[in-house]
Amino acid sequence: MALISLEAARRRVLAQCPPIRPRAVPLAEALGCATSVPIRAEEAVPPFDNTAVDGFAVRSAEVVGAAPDHPVHLRVIATIAAGAPPEPPVGPGQAVRILTGAPLPAGADAVVMIEDTDAWDGRSGREAPGPTGSGQVAVRRSVAAGANLRRAGDDIAPGQEVFAAGTVLGAGHLGVLASLGLVRVPVYPRARVGVLSTGDELVPAGQPLGPGQIRDSNRTTLLALVAGANAEPVDLGSVPDDPDALTAALTDGVTRCDAILTSGGVSVGDFDYVKVVLDRLSGQTMQWMQVAIKPAKPFAFGTISGTPVFGLPGNPVSSMVGFEALARPALRQMMGHVDLGRTRVLAVADEGVRRRPDGKLHLVRVRGQWEADGRFHVRSSGGQESHLLRSMALANALAVVPDGDGVEAGGGVEVWLLS
Ligand code: AMP
Ligand code: MG
Repeated sequence: MALISLEAARRRVLAQCPPIRPRAVPLAEALGCATSVPIRAEEAVPPFDNTAVDGFAVRSAEVVGAAPDHPVHLRVIATIAAGAPPEPPVGPGQAVRILTGAPLPAGADAVVMIEDTDAWDGRSGREAPGPTGSGQVAVRRSVAAGANLRRAGDDIAPGQEVFAAGTVLGAGHLGVLASLGLVRVPVYPRARVGVLSTGDELVPAGQPLGPGQIRDSNRTTLLALVAGANAEPVDLGSVPDDPDALTAALTDGVTRCDAILTSGGVSVGDFDYVKVVLDRLSGQTMQWMQVAIKPAKPFAFGTISGTPVFGLPGNPVSSMVGFEALARPALRQMMGHVDLGRTRVLAVADEGVRRRPDGKLHLVRVRGQWEADGRFHVRSSGGQESHLLRSMALANALAVVPDGDGVEAGGGVEVWLLS
């Protein structure tokens, strides 16, 4: 079977993975989701003019020329705390003690910071007015109209588009939506992604290994990768290479999931039943590919009753790399993201990467860090064979080494950042 380039394989997959139907979800469930429509504000933020500091609300014209040796004396008529109504109005010769976030009372047009005043309680003569705000204040500094105020709509005006469609919601975005009083937000919801392991040799944790048997690690890694892609993992279990068990698991999976990942049974040499069953359930639409990458060359893709199915190879590193290269971009597209791939940077190879020309891109497990020269420096994280999962676990990037002889030490190499 001829090799197909990674880009071509990705195009084939993306063409069959349209975004899933948007819906309004509670803010608490929307982290990492992409908005499906532009979000408009129905309220102003802040909702009213308020003070940015603790101090005294004044009529700025009355404190013109105020200075330490020439204070302006005003009568303090009340205290307004955050959450209180903007009352009473400030008349000539008056001031209102006001605390950060409190609404500006009528008549006042500026706030003098507490640090620029000396205040007296009307009765006891204590410094600072009492809780009712009675007393006097000496203003030691003039303020311009509007000083120390946060105006209504400063951050967001009613009717304004706050976020464009396709905005990926982070903590700050959710905070803005909360400040606008939204309970739900229209997004592309998390895709429910089923993960199914296949293979007669697989034994669940907790059971002893018999001859020729191994543990199922792919289901754990793939479920975690799904969660890391902000999708919702659905554990479809592990099935032997048995047509009935495979058929049952896949048929159940497509009723519950937006996409399915299988591992194992997609290599050319495999004589297990994964191929037979996937071909039959997909109505012979499965595309069996040999992608020009190493690891993760064998890959299958098709749909069962409209649900995309990604047939990933069984080798532990191959299933992870196949997910990164082909499944993750598709899941992100299904979830309305525009930016489908991992962040790519041009890194410095601190050690050479040797390879032979074989027509494939090599995705090399590397560990790297940002250094003082402002560049990301990488080194191999260990052995590169596709069963060596530990070196994948230790890697924080995949170096994309193009076909050829490799990369010299100190040379540049593109990497996909995995975290
Ligand atoms: P296959 O793609 O089914 O030919 O499997 C390739 C290799 O991956 C074999 O060594 C399998 O035993 C191994 N393998 C398959 N599935 C899993 C799994 N879920 N966890 C760990 N190794 C697996
Ligand atoms: Mg197998």
